[in-house]
Amino acid sequence: MSQEGSTIQGKHQQVPLKVLAIGSAYEDTILYVDKFPPEDGKQRAQKVEKRRGGNAGNTLTVLSQFPLTQGYFMASMASKDASAFILQDFEIHNIKTSTCIFRSNAELAPVAYIIYADNTSSRTIINYNSIDELTFEEFKRKFEAACVEEVVDTLNNDLPFNWIHFEGRNAVEVAKMIDYIGTKVWRPRTKISVELEKPYRRGLETLMSRADVVFFSKVFAEGKGYDHAGDFLQVMSPFCKNTAHLFCTWGSSGAMCYHNPTRKLFTASALPIQSVVDTVGAGDTFSAGVIYGLTQGMTPEGCLKFACELAGRKCAQVGFDCLV
Ligand code: ADP
Repeated sequence: MSQEGSTIQGKHQQVPLKVLAIGSAYEDTILYVDKFPPEDGKQRAQKVEKRRGGNAGNTLTVLSQFPLTQGYFMASMASKDASAFILQDFEIHNIKTSTCIFRSNAELAPVAYIIYADNTSSRTIINYNSIDELTFEEFKRKFEAACVEEVVDTLNNDLPFNWIHFEGRNAVEVAKMIDYIGTKVWRPRTKISVELEKPYRRGLETLMSRADVVFFSKVFAEGKGYDHAGDFLQVMSPFCKNTAHLFCTWGSSGAMCYHNPTRKLFTASALPIQSVVDTVGAGDTFSAGVIYGLTQGMTPEGCLKFACELAGRKCAQVGFDCLV
């Protein structure tokens, strides 16, 4: 896989990465069917899979495959017992979860049922999440504890995390979290990214101006009335930091990046793949590619291409393992 002329191998990576990602984790059940079921009908699935899901955790799963990379996941979760499947999967992928909050009265982890229709390659998701969102106070408590641990861990290097990534969820609380990180002396050496995926989540726009990197989804852009990633990014750019990188993915059409410092727009095509096998988490894989690329000093254009390749490879296989 190209990394501006080189391949992703341990020997090419120069910068160790500690990434904290804040979001939510799901138990996903994926039903593969020939065609989407008619309402009130009955149908057999060809295959069923159970996986850990949730955007921020997916991004960490991909990042954890790069050498010298440590992921930390933060979310408000159900009780530890109810979260056992999710926690075990994080552990398998060497992603730390000591930064999570467990709600002992919540006996059901968030679940998602994903119907994959073979004839149209459509992906229909129904989810249920009754866990109260992470509050700023909870974030602060876990974050401070993690900072102390990590600073000790890195032998007095006072940078606990190189990158902090937020799933844009409860905007009011996330804004406070980002502002709080802004009070740290090490903040200028850490990048903050925010994913704006769901157009119906209120107030997400307030997060744009706070992040160094903003990931927009096609659904979000369309929800704002745009049918072209480039037009959308150009309109969003004045609302972002003048140092920001803005990305917008567009499914099988690839993705675009608007680089605010130079006001340049870059385009990358999707990786041509023979057969699309599984697109669940393609956008999360793209985000991992960008985070990795930017920390390793790739140009915005190189990074965009790299992320599209990584996401394309993901679409050509089931799950996230062995992408790197
Ligand atoms: P999401 O998973 O958030 O809906 P997208 O569907 O926009 O995200 O996909 C993210 C990225 O994954 C795209 O920018 C593209 O690079 C890659 N991708 C998605 N679908 C395909 C496809 N059919 N073929 C090749 N690459 C794809």
